[in-house]
Amino acid sequence: MSKEKKLSNLLYRFYEKKENKFSVLLEIAKTYFDICDYENSLKFYLLAADHKENNNKEFIFLEIGKIYRLIEKNDKALEYLFIVKNSNINNEIKVAVNLEIANAYINKNNFKEALKYLEYVVKNSVGEQLIICSIILAKVYRSNHQYEKALDILDTIYDKDSKYKEETNKIRNIIENEMYDRFPGNYNFNGNYQDLIANYKKILKDDPSNGQVLCFLSQAYNYMGLYDCTIELYEKNREKITKNKFFKNKFLNEYEIASKKTILSSKPRNLMVVLSNKCNIRCIMCMTSRSKWELPKDRLNEIIELFPYLERVMWQGGEILLLPYFKDMLKQTTKYKNLRQSMISNFQLANEEIINLIVTNNVELTISIDGVCKETYESIRVGGSFEKLTNNLQMLLDKRNKIENKMILNMNVVVMRENYYKLSDFVDFAYKYKFDFICFMQLDFVPKDNVISDVVIKKQQDFFNDKDEIEMKILSYQMMLVEQKAKKYGIRVESRLKTKRLSEIEIKEYEDKGSFYKQYIKNKKIYIEKEINEQYNINDTKRNLNYNIQNGITIDSKESIDYNSKIICNNENKNMLCHLPWYSLTLDFDGSVRPDCQCSILKNVGHLKDCSINEIWNNTQMQYYRKKIINNDYKDLCSDNCIKKRIVNFHLKLL
Ligand code: SF4
Ligand code: SF4
Repeated sequence: MSKEKKLSNLLYRFYEKKENKFSVLLEIAKTYFDICDYENSLKFYLLAADHKENNNKEFIFLEIGKIYRLIEKNDKALEYLFIVKNSNINNEIKVAVNLEIANAYINKNNFKEALKYLEYVVKNSVGEQLIICSIILAKVYRSNHQYEKALDILDTIYDKDSKYKEETNKIRNIIENEMYDRFPGNYNFNGNYQDLIANYKKILKDDPSNGQVLCFLSQAYNYMGLYDCTIELYEKNREKITKNKFFKNKFLNEYEIASKKTILSSKPRNLMVVLSNKCNIRCIMCMTSRSKWELPKDRLNEIIELFPYLERVMWQGGEILLLPYFKDMLKQTTKYKNLRQSMISNFQLANEEIINLIVTNNVELTISIDGVCKETYESIRVGGSFEKLTNNLQMLLDKRNKIENKMILNMNVVVMRENYYKLSDFVDFAYKYKFDFICFMQLDFVPKDNVISDVVIKKQQDFFNDKDEIEMKILSYQMMLVEQKAKKYGIRVESRLKTKRLSEIEIKEYEDKGSFYKQYIKNKKIYIEKEINEQYNINDTKRNLNYNIQNGITIDSKESIDYNSKIICNNENKNMLCHLPWYSLTLDFDGSVRPDCQCSILKNVGHLKDCSINEIWNNTQMQYYRKKIINNDYKDLCSDNCIKKRIVNFHLKLL
């Protein structure tokens, strides 16, 4: 008999035949419950509860509590459930009522209270119920930020029953991503470290052994320069992180930063690795692909051994998608959930498989794009195809739109004469393909002596070298547009360009004379070509060094203007506090090593041909970096971009 039929018979007996027996009420209530009509079920359970024949008060109150919980009247639910809990009940009811109380507290987002009851349930359950309740417990631990406990529980379930493999893996992934996310990275953070610290302290009050939060709190203290707090925190709590290699190393590393150690027992947490210089295209400004370099196998093995300790690794080429082993390594690395992977690619060789891998594993992807139209792109990225790029970007976008993901997509733009006057178009392009971040970098091209083609490229493209006031004005105007559009689209921008903020009068003048500037861009290119042709006898075009553009402005004028304003990063008033030599290494395209890619190429700390990463980590040059920073003596050591604070806060700590 169907439940509906059964219910109508029971209701007939109750209403028409006035059969007001306890057993009939109970049957009606149960049947309503089975068909999920909780309001009516509750009505009949309440009648049963008051019935003179009621000989099963605890069971009925438990059911009433359960229904109140299901209809989100949690306080009412708890009223009934606690009456049951405080009665003389058997073990089976005890487990059931504890589970209901826990569920009511979960509904109220009171995870701390929920835990008390849920832990009892798990301890006293067996079989399928044990597994289901353990999954709920893991979720509550997660909500309470007790990630390690949650992961321990999931491990136990995983070992017990493969039926729950998929679900436990799903929760594990969420937890492992959250563990890392609890410290703000480059994105989605408003810079309020005070609030962050208060939040971490609150969690530690409830859960003093929370290893992850201890690490994040020490990191936040160090970001603020509150070194004594980190030292005290570490000394009081170091024993609390025992199992997790990653957090153990991170906590020690933050302590070593705070205590200004120059020889470290902790291992690097951040690596930028050039795997090979091989490339599928030949960008006009590329210096990397001109020399041969393959990361030696033993160094690669050393990096693999560091995986459990790393929080970030950035893979770079050449073109890494050319390397036959890269895909497998990316897969292997995704096992380390605390390790954020990022990769830089020209994206010409991307395919569905690699895109799936990137999106599903939240790999941070940086694509180098120096032109957002076919003509510019292909004239800079020689051998690259603009159609291929946009097709691959579309494939990436489709995949990102299809599945939930947290991948970050960045764009690197090398600014040169070929593209400086259309930089604002890059922001529209970035918006179209859902980029999160754009970094505009100044062309930094050092021609090889006696290589004419190099000298020509330098002359053609390195307009920063010319310091032509009009070109600089065009660039500054473009960067103003970039800033406006990026704000509108919510895209983050870092500008490492020497530009200046134009006054309102300058902007008006620029806009009024738009056609003059357009013409100037064209004419300047022609002029440079002529000059090159003359100088290197590339053809017989007559040279005219005093070539006037128009309106009497001569392009030979090289006034020295200080274009150092920071229009995007806006860090002028911030103090620099760089911790990178304590946790980071850049393994560069010629085997040389520096703490970070921002550090000067001339201030290397070692070479991978001669020594291992481990040897370099604490060698005299690394100690020298650390000592200089401890003494706040950046000027003879550090790059202009850092000293002039053109870098986003996340990179250096600018307070
Ligand atoms: S894609 Fe990168 S490595 Fe390849 S040529 Fe261009 S800049 Fe050089
Ligand atoms: S150049 Fe100096 S400030 Fe910049 S990343 Fe390197 S060590 Fe830090």
